[in-house]
Amino acid sequence: MIEAAFAHHGLNWRYINCEVPPEHLGDAVKGASAMGWRGFNLSIPHKVTVIPHLDGLGESAAIMGAVNCAVNRDGKLIGENTDGKGFLKSLLEVVNPAGTSVVMFGAGGAARAICVELALAGAKAVTIVNRSRARGAPLAELLNTKTKAKASFVPWPENYAIPEGTDIIVNATSIGLGNSDQPLGISIGTITPRHVVADVIVDPPDTRFLRDARLRGATVIDGLGMLINQGVIGVKYWTGIDASPDVMRRKLVEIFGG
Ligand code: NDP
Repeated sequence: MIEAAFAHHGLNWRYINCEVPPEHLGDAVKGASAMGWRGFNLSIPHKVTVIPHLDGLGESAAIMGAVNCAVNRDGKLIGENTDGKGFLKSLLEVVNPAGTSVVMFGAGGAARAICVELALAGAKAVTIVNRSRARGAPLAELLNTKTKAKASFVPWPENYAIPEGTDIIVNATSIGLGNSDQPLGISIGTITPRHVVADVIVDPPDTRFLRDARLRGATVIDGLGMLINQGVIGVKYWTGIDASPDVMRRKLVEIFGG
């Protein structure tokens, strides 16, 4: 996806995948600096442990305590988190979250990143619905202590009913990953045309949850938008260019369908 954008914009740049064992992460970061890389993305298991190896953090990455994108700014490697920013960018094409009430399913890395960006963008209230309290309750606590949003945690009941007054509903669990028929465990009848419904799943992008929500008249956003916009934001950070999201989407659709 990133190289498709480089090629489209005539940049003779490369985006390469490197598998870095955890014990060599510090050396790899030093190596990236030494080789003059403009930056890099990071995935599990490096998103938290990379932080001591960087020179600084962007605002949301500092709140989340997780970095998935490093950017060389004037010789300093700064950690950003584009997971939530990519989501926010695709959401903003449909609705501004300022002043809204959000129901978030999930409390893992993706949910945390999205919740923090929604809170920084002015979301008024966030209800975190998660299977385990161990991840759900601390995420609500993080939002309440580090952002202005009012957050609460709800242990996931069998068929969760979307509360009155909800504007935005997000699935940030891994439900639907690799299974386009897996149901989300919500009372679908409580979704209405007033809702904006988003899913983070990219493989396959047309999840059961989104199909059900579409049938109920909601406006839906698939996970490809979040992934594409992470690419757009990363390319902007590294090259200064506004990359074409269409070129990236075409490449992703080639890979995942959609
Ligand atoms: P994590 O492992 O950190 O979190 C997984 C979350 O899913 C937890 O809240 C977990 O609940 C919940 N969960 C998993 N299985 C079930 C189940 N059967 N029933 C109820 N809850 C369940 O994963 P990430 O947050 O990193 O990723 C989540 C998804 O987001 C993945 O599918 C990933 O591919 C996708 N993603 C998409 C991106 C995009 O750009 N579109 C970017 C990043 C991620 P519990 O706490 O109870 O275990």
